[in-house]
Amino acid sequence: MDANIVLLPGDGIGPEIVTQGQRVLEAIASRFGHNFVMSEHPIGGNAIDDFGDPLPQATIDACKASDAILLGAVGGPKWDDPAAKTRPEAGLLKIRQELQLFANLRPIQTWDELVDASPLKTEIVAGTDILFFRELTGGVYFGDSGRREHSSGEEAYCEMVYSTGEIERIVRLAAEAARGRQGRVTSVDKANVLEVSRLWRQVAERVMKEEYPDVEYDVVLVDAMAMHLIARPKTFDVVVTGNLFGDILTDAASMLPGSLGLLPSASLGSDGPGLYEPIHGSAPDIAGRGIANPLATFLAAAMLLRHSLKLNEEASVIEAAVAATLKAGHRTADIASGGSSISTSEMGDLVVAQISG
Ligand code: NAD
Repeated sequence: MDANIVLLPGDGIGPEIVTQGQRVLEAIASRFGHNFVMSEHPIGGNAIDDFGDPLPQATIDACKASDAILLGAVGGPKWDDPAAKTRPEAGLLKIRQELQLFANLRPIQTWDELVDASPLKTEIVAGTDILFFRELTGGVYFGDSGRREHSSGEEAYCEMVYSTGEIERIVRLAAEAARGRQGRVTSVDKANVLEVSRLWRQVAERVMKEEYPDVEYDVVLVDAMAMHLIARPKTFDVVVTGNLFGDILTDAASMLPGSLGLLPSASLGSDGPGLYEPIHGSAPDIAGRGIANPLATFLAAAMLLRHSLKLNEEASVIEAAVAATLKAGHRTADIASGGSSISTSEMGDLVVAQISG
């Protein structure tokens, strides 16, 4: 296969982990006979420094012309001045908008080798394997908002809006994914209170019943879901929800495996390239020291192969290589629990060696 992959290293540890991610993709290309053309483009704080813009037009053009995008992270104290005209994070929001990336996928999987790192009891978290679909371009984050006069001073409002089409497209993506997993979708809403959730539930139920009768489907209220995620995370397969609920639930769920350095995510649109990244930030406290954990970036690269390039076997090879490397006892400092640790590039060497056989 020929594929054009854009690399957006970004700031802080971004360049360190994306360099290793590129090596992993090269190892896959070489093992399976693919031709991945990879090109680097600026985004975030470094792009502000060099071009006065966190997302230069040339980066947007390169992303739009690509098959898939692998991002490191953006941001850092250097660009934190509240009076600054623009911020690195604006680049991230803009690329999601430009590419119409309406679905954020976040797999939450515990690793047997690291289950002790979870703040929850092993018997509760071991075996957890959830795939979240969070709607990313609608809901209360994008509705009309503002302030107006009020007898007590002023009042503020934010509208939560979802249309039939917005709900249908994300529910379909979730249902399609469930078919390749355990075949179960849980939709999370607040239909006992919010009108927008009542439409969400009505549309989700129709899509699931009419188009995916083979996929098991249930509905959970968001407040109950907060509880179930902590009490019985293993009982969920695919979870689909709106922007606000997804934001909060996925962050809570990211604590189940116990380590930020192992969690990837994908942002997808209807067509065009997907954007893949680790969920962690630019970790300025450890940037430049060569100790960042690159595994979340490798798992993001696996998602890129699976979702954008439809290379399932290749994706599984990366996931198996990460699992084998952890099983062999190799750890970067963040997951070493005080034991001996290896560097970012040594972790890259080991995973590349596993892939290359
Ligand atoms: P962070 O995720 O960067 O770091 C939190 C802690 O986790 C730090 O101690 C860090 O050293 C550690 N950590 C994170 N990733 C790691 C890795 N791969 N290996 C080892 N340790 C790792 O969160 P933060 O400190 O709140 O944010 C730092 C900057 O990143 C901020 O400017 C923030 O706005 C930005 N940020 C960017 C993104 C993104 O680009 N998608 C996401 C979150 C935060």
